[in-house]
Amino acid sequence: MVQNNQQAGSVIANIDHIKQANSATIYKVIEKYAPISRVKIAKVSKLAPASVTKITRQLLESGIISETARQASTGGRCAISLAPNSASIYVLAVKIGQKLLSLSRYNLAGEQLSNKQVNIQGEDGEQLIELLISEIDHYINNELHNADKISAISITLSGLINPKQGRVVYTPHYSFKDYPLVEVIEQRFNLPTFIGNHTRSLALAEHYFGATKNCADSILVTIHHGVGSGIIIQGKALLGQNFNIGEIGHIQANPAGKQCHCGNFGCLETEVSDRVILEKVESAIRQGCFTQLEPQDISIDSIYQAAAANDPLCQKIIEDAAVYLGKTVAILINLLNPQKIIIAGKITQAENSLFSTINQCITHQALPDFQKELKIEAAQLNPNSTVAAFALIKQALYEGDLLQKIKI
Ligand SMILES: [Zn+2]
Repeated sequence: MVQNNQQAGSVIANIDHIKQANSATIYKVIEKYAPISRVKIAKVSKLAPASVTKITRQLLESGIISETARQASTGGRCAISLAPNSASIYVLAVKIGQKLLSLSRYNLAGEQLSNKQVNIQGEDGEQLIELLISEIDHYINNELHNADKISAISITLSGLINPKQGRVVYTPHYSFKDYPLVEVIEQRFNLPTFIGNHTRSLALAEHYFGATKNCADSILVTIHHGVGSGIIIQGKALLGQNFNIGEIGHIQANPAGKQCHCGNFGCLETEVSDRVILEKVESAIRQGCFTQLEPQDISIDSIYQAAAANDPLCQKIIEDAAVYLGKTVAILINLLNPQKIIIAGKITQAENSLFSTINQCITHQALPDFQKELKIEAAQLNPNSTVAAFALIKQALYEGDLLQKIKI
């Protein structure tokens, strides 16, 4: 009996999963081909007309799509076309950074309609959540017109995030552990909420709206105070059971290197992060190396700009760092055979020194067949923006999760 119940339960779960997948397929077809009739949706999606009728009725009831002008169709009858209500459905995308909390309102068409930034000053985990809730509350109640209702919230932050359970398992800058962030926000605002690791979500954003739009398989490498990556395989973010794939900053790049905060020696981020590049330039100047930079002007931006303007010291230090990055990128290519690798971060301002060195490493260290179609270039989106959080909403739409929950 217990076994029968289990079987019945798994059949129901499977039916729900199929329904969700079919809804997502139909939504994607409508978004891509709008305005489109139900007959054409059935043809493109290869789903039965009865399923298309049922699912489009549900999508119409939820308000996520609407009927548009009737179009004449063959046979003398009029077909009603359907289109997404993307421009008039609003979501709130939030980025929790180390020092800044950013909140932006987007419509589902991907337009950022407003943006607000709030300083985070040494808050611990509990204070951060209070700040987050009060800012979302303020945004919803004071900065929106009544008609501009928010339909979903998404949040990205650094660290180990479990998007399935909606929990922040660990985040480097704040003292909370295994925190049920989605449950807390959903209870407070009664809106579907999604969370994700910022870098992995940024890779998804580049895939939906940026440099890897037309690639099924791509890797985003981010370089800032640390080094991370987000991997997209067959159009989906690769997260795994433990949600933590892509920590390339801790691959040993230089066995003779400095000790990393993880305990290992010579991790990639001890050779390539912005902080390390800044330290190397400052130390070289102290040792008497020549640079066009004035001592009072030294910053990470001025170093990358000086390298772009052919300053020999800045170029040399970036090229040395890029050798370690190139070595790691070549490993990633051999492991995952991507179509494109994109680099995000201020370091891309020094593109000549950076990309020529990485390309040399790839030529020598990656499998020749894997290099044929491979492209490596700078990311297109601002790595610090809330677009990564918005990508989580788009993912939830494309995978059906949000279609089940959205309130318009
Ligand atoms: Zn490390």
